[in-house]
Amino acid sequence: MADTILVIDEGTTSTRAMAFSADGTCLGWAQQDLVQHYPRPGWVEHDPEEIWLKTLDCAREMIAKAGGAERIAAIGITNQRETVVFWDRRTGRALGPAIVWQDRRTAELCADLKEKGHEPDLQARTGLLLDPYFSASKIAWAMAEWPQLREAGDALAIGTVESWLVWRMTGGLHVSDASNASRTALMDIRSGRWDPDLLGLFGVPAAALPEIVDCAGDLGATDPGHFGRPIPIRGMAGDQQAAAIGQACLAAGDTKATYGTGAFVLTHTGETAPVSPNRLLGTIAWQLDGRRSFALEGSVFVAGSLIKWLRDDLGLISGTSETSAIAASIADSGGVTIVPAHCGLGAPYWQPEARGIIAGLTFATGRAEIVRAALEAMAHQTHDLMTAFASDGAHWQRLKIDGGMAANDWMAQDLADMLALPVERPAFVETTALGAAMLAAVGCGFYASLGEAAAMRGAVETFDPAMDAATRDARLGGWRRALAGVLEPLE
Ligand code: ADP
Repeated sequence: MADTILVIDEGTTSTRAMAFSADGTCLGWAQQDLVQHYPRPGWVEHDPEEIWLKTLDCAREMIAKAGGAERIAAIGITNQRETVVFWDRRTGRALGPAIVWQDRRTAELCADLKEKGHEPDLQARTGLLLDPYFSASKIAWAMAEWPQLREAGDALAIGTVESWLVWRMTGGLHVSDASNASRTALMDIRSGRWDPDLLGLFGVPAAALPEIVDCAGDLGATDPGHFGRPIPIRGMAGDQQAAAIGQACLAAGDTKATYGTGAFVLTHTGETAPVSPNRLLGTIAWQLDGRRSFALEGSVFVAGSLIKWLRDDLGLISGTSETSAIAASIADSGGVTIVPAHCGLGAPYWQPEARGIIAGLTFATGRAEIVRAALEAMAHQTHDLMTAFASDGAHWQRLKIDGGMAANDWMAQDLADMLALPVERPAFVETTALGAAMLAAVGCGFYASLGEAAAMRGAVETFDPAMDAATRDARLGGWRRALAGVLEPLE
């Protein structure tokens, strides 16, 4: 009986296949690491053939573990966003390396377009900013630099990672789901179509782009050669949107924050495309039956990487999980405040040149104070995002957290205290994969709607705010003073 959902979770550092039952239980996974290529400073590439072959391998392994292809009702795909792949339709082979979202090679091109005044219009159409992060400038760069793309002529195909995987899985279907397409900076997020003016601005041939499709439904079927029988592909979304779905952020105001290396925050904003005067990103949360739902997104550059730095570079801790007990061992940070701007500050400050500080040191400052101040910095940064989201009209009622760092109980409570909001943490933290499973479950008819599929999320733990306002205000005052010390020299 086909009762299992296979999720392909193609991330930046690894690719995985996971199996879920219809009630959301994770039945297991197979995983392989991906090689990161850094050919020059600031450049980050992946090998598209490696992505495909390792994904295929993991899928086959997981399908075998799940009892064979006849057990798989549907496939759901989620992926690293913005990364672009170029291939030849005749051969199905990649025409160059994948240019990864982290790649900064187009910084100059973006700065130039910004200088020429293109950003306000791009932001109004796409919800995004003129930054190398998004796919458009990466495509412009490749079209100019790689003659093989021009030589391919009409056979040239361009797509983000889910588009590449679907092409290979189906043997030639060229589609991209609306949530991924919304990260290219080539899509008009209101109409849901490629924007001809933006294609012109970046020199992208329209014929090379995929058709933009829904995030759930009959999206294609795998070539029988891959898994022994065709398996329908029924769900697709970019990783952060999938995590928001997996956290059941389905109504306007619902918010999730993923604390990994950095932190990614998304608030669902309903069916009207958001416009952000605070330089948050407007993006498509999902598209179902041709109707788009939107989200505001903000990212913090330094989250778990700060804890990793305490461990690997300062040697203050031997493991990241001990930070919760160390922070709890003292009543406060003794006036120490860390501004973790080790690689600049993201939303809502947007200061790539900012550098971090540890403020308020005295001879009473010990290891515990520094560790506690590091964890406190997560709530401070999240608090500033909450303020920016609120002034963009997105008011948080509670915060749903996930990611490796969300395992930290002390941080979860501190977030609740400093935001003065309940913080919710699901027992099953693989929310990205779960979101793709939920989309596929809707796409294959296990559930009639995402609202019904939200039952797959399972148990959650809630941390309620317990801090008095005076303590909170004192903390925020210290944070603002330290932050001013970082930002003022840049002005
Ligand atoms: P990514 O997906 O970005 O690789 P993960 O979601 O796996 O990140 O989270 C790993 C990050 O979380 C690491 O940077 C690590 O330092 C941090 N981390 C993991 N566990 C804890 C913990 N218990 N307390 C604080 N930080 C933690």
